[in-house]
Amino acid sequence: MPGHPRIGLYGGAFDPPHVAHHAVAQAALGQLGLDLLLIIPTGQAWHKSRPLTSAEHRLAMARLAFADLPRTRVDERELHRTGPTYTIDTLAEVAAEHPDAELFLIVGADQLQQFPTWHRWQDILSRATLAVANRAEHIGTDALSPAHRPSNLSAVEIPFVTLAMAPLNVSATALRRHMQQDWLDGVLDDVPLVSPAVAGYISTHNLYQNHS
Ligand code: ATP
Repeated sequence: MPGHPRIGLYGGAFDPPHVAHHAVAQAALGQLGLDLLLIIPTGQAWHKSRPLTSAEHRLAMARLAFADLPRTRVDERELHRTGPTYTIDTLAEVAAEHPDAELFLIVGADQLQQFPTWHRWQDILSRATLAVANRAEHIGTDALSPAHRPSNLSAVEIPFVTLAMAPLNVSATALRRHMQQDWLDGVLDDVPLVSPAVAGYISTHNLYQNHS
């Protein structure tokens, strides 16, 4: 890596990883000129009320989902942390491992809305540039323009850069619901919302049959 590597951190439950996650990662690699992209499956995140699929399965699916992307590595560290996992701790660790790096934190637009609720969010901004991908089903295509900032953020100035990508109307929640209804085969035949490798893994391990 060059003297001042550009490193992206992209965290998520990835339960399961879907095509929009892949598109965000691809956009980040290209548009931010990343030398390294870390895909970071979360532990049992404090802000998600539902129990997540096991770390073992989510890790395996993440490896399959992002395997084709260059300069991209699935990073297990948050899965091994006991207690709550915080992004600021992960950022601090990565910064210590790569002292000369410029760090980018990659999130979807829904997370931008919630960002002021994140643990030590100002410290996060002092260590990393926030890179935000638009998210169709949440707040519309022009959601990132100032005029469309959600009102709860109107008093908060959050600097960020935008990742240009066609908004994709897909969420892991919707996927899990559909799979519970045995819809998986149809979904995958018509519109691939997860990669064939991830679909194969889900099917082999009978995941998402009893999830909400
Ligand atoms: P869930 O529906 O279970 O909350 P999710 O689809 O939002 O899951 P996460 O694993 O929680 O997926 O998301 C990881 C990151 O990817 C978050 O920053 C989220 O905003 C972003 N993301 C997820 N789906 C999209 C999408 N369709 N477009 C843009 N960003 C997305």
